[in-house]
Amino acid sequence: VRIVRGCSIVTLDDQNPFIPEGELEIDPSTGTLTYVGPIRQDVRGEVILAKDKVAMPGLVNAHTHAAMTIVRGYADDLNLQDWLSQIWAVEARMSPEDIYWGTQLALAEMIRGGTIAFADMYFHMEHVARAVADAGMRVALSPGLLGILPGADKVLQEAEALARDWHGAEAGRIRVILGPHAPYTCPPEYLRKVAHSAARLGVGVHIHLSETRREVEDSLKQYGKTPIELAHSNGLFQVPVLAAHCVHATDSEIDLLAETGAWVAHNMGSNLKLGSGIAPIPRMLSRGVRVALGTDGAGSNNNLDMFEEMYLAATVHKGVHEDATLMPAPLVMALATRAGAQALGFEDVGILKPGYQADFLLVSLKRPHMVPAHSLPSNLVYSARSADVDGVFVAGRPLMLNGSLLTIDEERAMAEVAARARNLTGKD
Ligand SMILES: [Zn+2]
Repeated sequence: VRIVRGCSIVTLDDQNPFIPEGELEIDPSTGTLTYVGPIRQDVRGEVILAKDKVAMPGLVNAHTHAAMTIVRGYADDLNLQDWLSQIWAVEARMSPEDIYWGTQLALAEMIRGGTIAFADMYFHMEHVARAVADAGMRVALSPGLLGILPGADKVLQEAEALARDWHGAEAGRIRVILGPHAPYTCPPEYLRKVAHSAARLGVGVHIHLSETRREVEDSLKQYGKTPIELAHSNGLFQVPVLAAHCVHATDSEIDLLAETGAWVAHNMGSNLKLGSGIAPIPRMLSRGVRVALGTDGAGSNNNLDMFEEMYLAATVHKGVHEDATLMPAPLVMALATRAGAQALGFEDVGILKPGYQADFLLVSLKRPHMVPAHSLPSNLVYSARSADVDGVFVAGRPLMLNGSLLTIDEERAMAEVAARARNLTGKD
């Protein structure tokens, strides 16, 4: 067995939420936890010492476009429609190799920030699958589908093939959900086709819904329905839905999201930066909507830092509503970990207890801003930085130890992306 010993543990297990000085035991053959509790004197194995660190369940980024690291900083301080037109012009020139290396860089950034799984909507997803398989992370691949483009039916067939090839691969670490981009890029008839495909394949869908006020107004003008109503009336909610943004969801739409069991990916950083608005997350939670957190792509955030997303989700709603009791730290931690894992379909990830996957991170407590530790959830949400992450484990395998990445050549990834970004954009 492998034992991580001497750390404090925030388990997110209601029965046993906090262990002051404990250890986690991993069965490497199954990748699961076999013991989480106080240090035992008599048990031996491969021991990794983790004194002055806190273990917590791995962070899950419920909405991103990993390869967009290539357009980080390329088109900033623009509203969504203007931003999209600049970004789409670059994306049209991207090669599968660009996407592979953009994804590699994103994986390095995510692992460094304690992220163990992500929902990724993009193109040429077999290259994303390959990068994730090599790096040892988890992913819900969402092949992007743009129904307005010529050849959209063929792209849907390719997405179906991706699902047949990769769904459940790498001991279940790789899942596939279809990625109809949004109702403004996928006409109703196409949304219906995607819903049928997903139902046939037994997978869910991942879609952008009601991100901006203008998107809702345009949709009402064109179809007499909001984006959420369009998605619902064309059958998308008959399969598991991961809906990014939902910033402009109305009360009746919030009830619909709750009734249908949809997951909402809340991307506060991206919504703030693109000036899209602030999603009614406290209202959604109080009405029973399931919520996870995401960064969105590095082109609109401009990082993949889930510690920053926790901080924003925990603080911005308090400020907007003038109510400091909203979005307490333990809740926000659960949204960023357990809820995200469920949203992506990883049912045995997100709690540190025996039988669950050994997916966790170690955060250094030996930092001026982490002392004292009256409440570890408070320290982790309000004080910690992603740079404090010191170790990351997925299915019991260390992907980072003592601050070093073990499965990714990050020097090469940085050099490749810097060169490829120059070639694609003509910018230095
Ligand atoms: Zn997005």
